[in-house]
Amino acid sequence: MNLRLSERHAWVLQSEIRNMSIECDRVGGINLSQGVCDTEVPPVVRQGAREAMDQGINTYTRYDGLVELRQAIADKQRRFTGMAVDPEGEIVVSAGATGALYCTCLALLNPGDEVIIFEPFYGYHISTLVATGATPVYVPLCPPDWSFQRESLERAWTSRTRAIIVNTPANPSGKVFTAEELQTIAAFAVHHDLFVFTDEIYEHFLYDGCRHLPPALLPGLGERTITISGLSKTFSITGWRVGYALGDARWLQTIGHFNDLVYVCAPAPLQIGVARGLNALGEDYYEGLARQYLYKRDMICRALTDAGLPPLVPQGAYYVLADISRLPGGNSKERAMHLLRETGVAAVPGSAFYHEGGGEDLARFCFAKDDPVLAEAAARLRTLK
Ligand code: PLP
Repeated sequence: MNLRLSERHAWVLQSEIRNMSIECDRVGGINLSQGVCDTEVPPVVRQGAREAMDQGINTYTRYDGLVELRQAIADKQRRFTGMAVDPEGEIVVSAGATGALYCTCLALLNPGDEVIIFEPFYGYHISTLVATGATPVYVPLCPPDWSFQRESLERAWTSRTRAIIVNTPANPSGKVFTAEELQTIAAFAVHHDLFVFTDEIYEHFLYDGCRHLPPALLPGLGERTITISGLSKTFSITGWRVGYALGDARWLQTIGHFNDLVYVCAPAPLQIGVARGLNALGEDYYEGLARQYLYKRDMICRALTDAGLPPLVPQGAYYVLADISRLPGGNSKERAMHLLRETGVAAVPGSAFYHEGGGEDLARFCFAKDDPVLAEAAARLRTLK
């Protein structure tokens, strides 16, 4: 029998997040399961893309992105974090942060390599590792502050470990790694000579005075870190597919070659729209965004508390994990389905963020929604018996 699916196909089955969206549509519910922001795209970004299209910027771009965008990313990175990045060789613009991580794994990992990842995790990280032949090894983050021990990192290490993934602020926990925690990770990575792949897509979604510290800035991490981020969330353009990887030219050149192979390039006119946005929008835009999402976070967390589903209040990103253990059901899927039936609010079962039986008492609610939609979800949650 040669007509069969590949062994890796099981890892790219419909994710639980998409499944809950389908169930939600079926009952006409409010979808707090998927991270699709329906907040406004900044006009300068939309206008930039429109103008680029009208001016004929519609063909393939260089494999690592248009120079306008690479320069805009380098400028913004320097402005906001002090990180110096050379737009000629140290940046690859890809099909979102998702594409950037996939190309990074293709370029830097071999089949059988182990990669340490914190749990609860973002499922795409796991699927990306497995699709490229690598093996995820889990290090638990402990609620309520999602802390971890240096010893758990050491326990996870083997002679096959090649990299560690750091997602800060994190999906689904909202954890913002502190400077001290990042120093622990840095010392570990340097000691064992590991790559650090970051996912900083939520870098501007910060609450309660938390600050974003790019791991690449830590001593010893510059040469071994691939910094991954994108504009899907910051500019509410999840469908545009524009993100990037930054790092030492030794690695980025090959990451770029894989980007060329898989995607050829990110959409040309949309690259211009994003570049215009990065150049035009200042601190006040990003601070306004964080304020707007803080309001949303507090609205959903209050409703969850009132509904008897205590939230683990996030410090960043735009998801909240809540304790749904009081709901009937033998596992998180059954509990989330009960919630959907009773209130019409869809959340993702916690098991989607854990391997081997974790997360059964949790569900993840996404609050990247317009305020009226979120207010309706909050009202519905409060009706929960
Ligand atoms: N990384 C994390 C942690 C996410 O939660 C998401 C989307 O939900 C992405 C990456 C996707 O980013 P992009 O749209 O740039 O591929």
